[in-house]
Amino acid sequence: MAHGHNQYPEMLEEIIDAFKGLPGIGRRTSERIALAMVKWQPGKLEHLGEMLRNLPKTVTFCPECGNLAAHSKLCSICASSSRDRNIICVVEDFSQILSIENSAFYKGVYHVLGGKLSPLENKHAGMLKIDSLLQRIETLKVKEVILALSQDVEGQATAVYIGGLLKGRELKITRLARGLPAGSDISYADSATIGAALNGRIPLN
Ligand SMILES: [Zn+2]
Repeated sequence: MAHGHNQYPEMLEEIIDAFKGLPGIGRRTSERIALAMVKWQPGKLEHLGEMLRNLPKTVTFCPECGNLAAHSKLCSICASSSRDRNIICVVEDFSQILSIENSAFYKGVYHVLGGKLSPLENKHAGMLKIDSLLQRIETLKVKEVILALSQDVEGQATAVYIGGLLKGRELKITRLARGLPAGSDISYADSATIGAALNGRIPLN
């Protein structure tokens, strides 16, 4: 590095690099965080380091639905006896589960696909958790599948694809009502909007 920001000790530069590029964190902010940490008590730094080191073990994904979970156990929704296992709400990412839960309307279970079909990004059906969805629909004797996918082209193509796979089965397939901003990810919609979209859900096709 002949020029640029190479003004801190090498290890500090490495820490700044590690923060830089995290969501919402640019070079300036990452510098400020790293410099603040230099002043931390050693114990606090050790604690943070330990939490980060253990993160892959402590925060895991639910083996059933793909939601965030702890210590390889079922997530709180799959572990709950009060959820209706006859309804599965299919989402692209686990982050969307929290948004839907905040709307406090939905009482079924979830299934995280891990994305949506996107030929441009080379995301094909084999890369999504579709097989396990079909399996769960079978095992749980699901009566309704809600496809809570984004309202953009890829999201709707994914909904149509899954709808096609489920054709001929005795179950209701619905998608969210319009009302969510077009092309937007449901993680960013407010809970009232999500509640209304779920409440007014309509049959696919
Ligand atoms: Zn789960």
